[in-house]
Amino acid sequence: MSKVRIKALLQTAGTGQEVVVSGWVRSRRGNKTISFIELNDGSTIHNIQAVADANLFSDEFLKDVSTGACIRVSGNLVASQGSGQAVEIQAKEIHIYGTADPQVYPLQKKGHSLEFLREIAHLRPRTNTFGAVLRVRHHLAYAIHKFFNDKGFFNLHTPIITGSDAEGAGEMFHVTTFDLKNTPRTEDGNIDYSQDFFGKETNLTVSGQLEGELGALALGLIYTFGPTFRAENSNTPRHLAEFWMIEPEMAFHDIEDNMDLAEEMLKYLVAYALEHCAADLEFLNKMYDKELLNRLRSVIDKPFTRITYTEAIEILKTCGKKFEYLADWGKDLQKEHENYLVEHHGGPVIVTGYPKDIKAFYMKQNDDGKTVRAMDILFPWIGEIIGGSQREEDHAKLLKRVEEMHIPQESLWWYLETRKFGTCPHAGFGLGFERLVLFVTGMTNIRDVIPFPRTPKNAEF
Ligand code: ATP
Ligand code: MN
Repeated sequence: MSKVRIKALLQTAGTGQEVVVSGWVRSRRGNKTISFIELNDGSTIHNIQAVADANLFSDEFLKDVSTGACIRVSGNLVASQGSGQAVEIQAKEIHIYGTADPQVYPLQKKGHSLEFLREIAHLRPRTNTFGAVLRVRHHLAYAIHKFFNDKGFFNLHTPIITGSDAEGAGEMFHVTTFDLKNTPRTEDGNIDYSQDFFGKETNLTVSGQLEGELGALALGLIYTFGPTFRAENSNTPRHLAEFWMIEPEMAFHDIEDNMDLAEEMLKYLVAYALEHCAADLEFLNKMYDKELLNRLRSVIDKPFTRITYTEAIEILKTCGKKFEYLADWGKDLQKEHENYLVEHHGGPVIVTGYPKDIKAFYMKQNDDGKTVRAMDILFPWIGEIIGGSQREEDHAKLLKRVEEMHIPQESLWWYLETRKFGTCPHAGFGLGFERLVLFVTGMTNIRDVIPFPRTPKNAEF
């Protein structure tokens, strides 16, 4: 007897063979003579139907084969009598691994709200929706590695604990082994981090970029794909305190090459998902968002619009629409502005040339003295999905910017040194993985595209 997963079973569809399938019961229905068990093992959105004859299985036994129970079914694969599936299993033997008392098992066949499912994140992977989302998430992660590997990029593992508090991308979580009720103090009353585990103040990283650059200036083309932490108290449907980021960094690439790569990558990833996650995406399209598949295809079809920040402000100022926040040169674009730009251009927009004062110290300065070679990619449904730039490779210019922005140099000496020794033009960007998964699945809340979300006041599972 062959032990198979349901996905493979439904694909081969060779009837007449004896099979063994294990999984979780989605539902059981039937009458006195026959029971139909819908079984799912997580390999696919589709269930296999097992048919249990009352001559072989007593009522008493089948009572425990209820929604949520985990069972193993052995039997013959036969052409299905009913509609809705090509094959089914004629059960000969059923083993119950674990029951799920219907009185208390929280997942019943009826649909549950996504909010409710967040409260039972330990069980929600067993729903159709989260099965689909988590499978899409897996395929996208795999596709990212494949995309970069096929292009000759090397995966660089950058540290999760960082000693520099100068990454500048957001508020950080402290990492310490101190007893917080009794921290060692220096003579002037400050916390004495020299006695802490690393002998200095350390945090969880907000970005692997700075170390990524060190890799690019040796290996040429690298990417990181790791967890990233931001201690901002932003309770939005687009922000997590712990999320995953993909950060390629490329030597000998300028801002144009950077945009080309980012656009190619996003199109590749969306096309990959359409090809490899068809059943799951069709389910999500049907259940949550009838425009999902169209939106995904539209992103692949045409070039992304590229405009400068200055042009963007001009568009926002003259469009006649009333915004909550005024669009004004020198100010950061708000979510409502990003949404308008995407709608106005009917698809993804890449904005470049931001004012230097609203962007990070490491971005390459333009000759106008006012703007930097930054790029943000704005996506329908999402807003900012990628932020990146060409990096300042000139030591003197970079140092001047560090000083102007009061960035503590001592913790960045190693970064600055790369501009002294064999510097070169280079560029890179950061793609928020969950924002990508949000876009591809059509989910509306970022808490629903990561298995166990971390947000303010929420770290239960
Ligand atoms: P935003 O303006 O949306 O808060 P950001 O400008 O702070 O984002 P970057 O520092 O440019 O973000 O980070 C690069 C990418 O990481 C973003 O384009 C986005 O896709 C993703 N990202 C940033 N912050 C978060 C977060 N808190 N949760 C999930 N993804 C995030
Ligand atoms: Mn950004």
